[in-house]
Amino acid sequence: MHYFAGIDIGSTAIKIAIVDESGELIGDKISASGSMFYKYAKEALAELLSELDIAQESLVYTVATGYGRKLFKEANEKISEITANAIGARAAAKIEGAQEIKTIINIGGQDSKAISLDSEGNVVNFAMNDRCAAGTGKFLDVVALKLEIGVDELGEYHFKSQGTPLSINSTCAVFAESEIIGLLGNDYSIEDIVAGVHYSIARRIIKLVKRVGIKEGIYFDGGPALNMGLVNAIENELTKEIFIPKYPQITTAFGAAILASESYEYLEK
Ligand code: ADP
Repeated sequence: MHYFAGIDIGSTAIKIAIVDESGELIGDKISASGSMFYKYAKEALAELLSELDIAQESLVYTVATGYGRKLFKEANEKISEITANAIGARAAAKIEGAQEIKTIINIGGQDSKAISLDSEGNVVNFAMNDRCAAGTGKFLDVVALKLEIGVDELGEYHFKSQGTPLSINSTCAVFAESEIIGLLGNDYSIEDIVAGVHYSIARRIIKLVKRVGIKEGIYFDGGPALNMGLVNAIENELTKEIFIPKYPQITTAFGAAILASESYEYLEK
């Protein structure tokens, strides 16, 4: 049996997906990128292969993607995360029986993207914010740290918020942090602050999506898509339902793994 790997080296997390010859996802791993992207990506891949009991020689083709992809010397191919995200999103939606994907919202650790696809799944347009932490996972990490809760708890707090969510006006993460400190000083609850932060990110991300055009069949992925409070805020602001795959953080790695299997098959012919 041959296996194929997609390695997404993101600014915050390394995601690896392994597929078999039928393109089925058989294992994945998420680990911190830290300061040594290449070293940690290599270690994570070795660990995943060992967990899955796959010999190194059986891994016949690897595609690297993401922010740190150029560093992964062993990759047979390197592709942009936009392409890998689009392939992975369409495949995940198909597997999970969702509507055909036309618009992808991706929020990563340090950037956010909106990608528009045509009916063939080709990327026709994309917009990206990588200059400002507001509207990214980093912003949520900073907020959670300040509120002394885990990022994985933000969703829970969001749904406990009462009434109209607070308005967070600062567009810069640093100023937003001071704004949050001010709100805490005025005895606003953590729940209401969290909901306010989610709505402020939702409004920013919708502005980004509007730049590529909002076409129904909206898919949201990246680590922050695990936060159902943020999902709720985006859906409310958009007044549209969005589809979240089962494993939103590994979509791009999955897309790269699918491409790895296709490239291998093409080269073997
Ligand atoms: P990148 O590809 O840029 O490294 P990811 O798509 O891996 O980014 O997303 C990383 C972000 O996901 C983190 O900064 C964090 O805010 C968020 N995140 C990770 N795990 C969770 C979780 N369990 N619940 C909510 N948010 C999460």
